[in-house]
Amino acid sequence: MVYNEIESAKREELEELELKRLQSTVERVYSLSTFYKEKFDELGITPKDITSLEDIKKLPFTTKKDLRAHYPFGLFTVPMSEVARIHSSSGTTGKPTVVGYTKSDMDVWDEVMARVFTLAGATSKDIVHNAYGYGLFTGGLGFHNGAEKIGAAIVPASAGMTDRQLMLMRDFGASILASTPTFALHMAEVAQKAGSDYLSHYKLKAGIFGAEPTSKGLKKEVSNAWGIDYHEVYGLSEIIGPGVAANCKESDLLHVFEDHFFVEIINPQTGESLPDGQRGELVITPLTKQALPLIRYRTGDITSITKEPCKCGRTLLRMESIVGRVDDMLIISGVNVYPSQIEHVIANTEGVTLNYQIIVDKHGHLDKLEIHIEVSDEIMTDSLGQMGALKKEIQHALLNNLYINAHVVLVQPRSIERSMGKAVRIIDKRKEQ
Ligand SMILES: [Zn+2]
Repeated sequence: MVYNEIESAKREELEELELKRLQSTVERVYSLSTFYKEKFDELGITPKDITSLEDIKKLPFTTKKDLRAHYPFGLFTVPMSEVARIHSSSGTTGKPTVVGYTKSDMDVWDEVMARVFTLAGATSKDIVHNAYGYGLFTGGLGFHNGAEKIGAAIVPASAGMTDRQLMLMRDFGASILASTPTFALHMAEVAQKAGSDYLSHYKLKAGIFGAEPTSKGLKKEVSNAWGIDYHEVYGLSEIIGPGVAANCKESDLLHVFEDHFFVEIINPQTGESLPDGQRGELVITPLTKQALPLIRYRTGDITSITKEPCKCGRTLLRMESIVGRVDDMLIISGVNVYPSQIEHVIANTEGVTLNYQIIVDKHGHLDKLEIHIEVSDEIMTDSLGQMGALKKEIQHALLNNLYINAHVVLVQPRSIERSMGKAVRIIDKRKEQ
């Protein structure tokens, strides 16, 4: 079941709508935003130059820096009398990123979140327990309004107070959980203390998780701990908040609500567009935003997209779970490598722990990659022969999956230096030379 027919429209129909909306967004920023007017003029382009979706490549990028430079409302294209809501990022460094919504922006947000709930199988009969934080962070209210829109009963629990959350979920019979994956896991651990049959006290059938990077392993853990379907939602406040994309029951890939958010994948170094299936930086142009329309916003998130049809009947293109951040990317002998991909290989190997360290160095002109991994306690007591096989297995997996030649060093449990409880993940010695 789709929430809106457009989700399963013919691709030509969808793309026709996208082009019309892109053109009106470009008109909008060109006539209402000095920032964009200047950028367009510099490049010698006007809204008339956008005659196909391909033409989006002619347009300039927008970055988080641009938003910060125009703090707080400099990029808004409506007067304050038309702004209905203001949210902001936590801003751990410097000024936060401020975003605004008109009434019509809020309607779009509610609608895409209603689509997310529908993707997860939620209906008006469900009780939604919302453990996302309410406040300036878009998570709490984003989920809240989407659940209301489909007519579900929403419990605005907000973050924190685990014991009380568990009591409410149990007593109210919540069927859908909305939270970060790590909080869901934490709640399961606390619930488990009450007895191994804890699951019999809860009625959860699905969870909608986001706002954190997630590995396949973590998804599985959360799904098993609660005995539920795991649905992932992707979003960012600069674009709308949660509700840019989410996965259906048929696939792990996330359907992008592209009638509102046009997505591209680019090479983060050159800015060139990459074909479907290739990993690169996700760039999003909201197509219907009124208060804060952004052109080609660089998310810094690494993923890939596909237009392959999905079994669920939706024609919306799909993206994979974010595999890493542009800032974390390592270039080793010309190959782009994300620490999360290396972690994935380690997580899928028996006998080693997730305490590892990636050391990149130069050997003459060549890059040299060394990965130190702590083995598990059981392995240490075994023969050295097994260690050799294990080391080869990991090196082989890295070469086959990531095309990287790494030298793996297996080390004793708890021997990698910790800083604030965490192992230092990456040491790039090339930068020190
Ligand atoms: Zn699908």
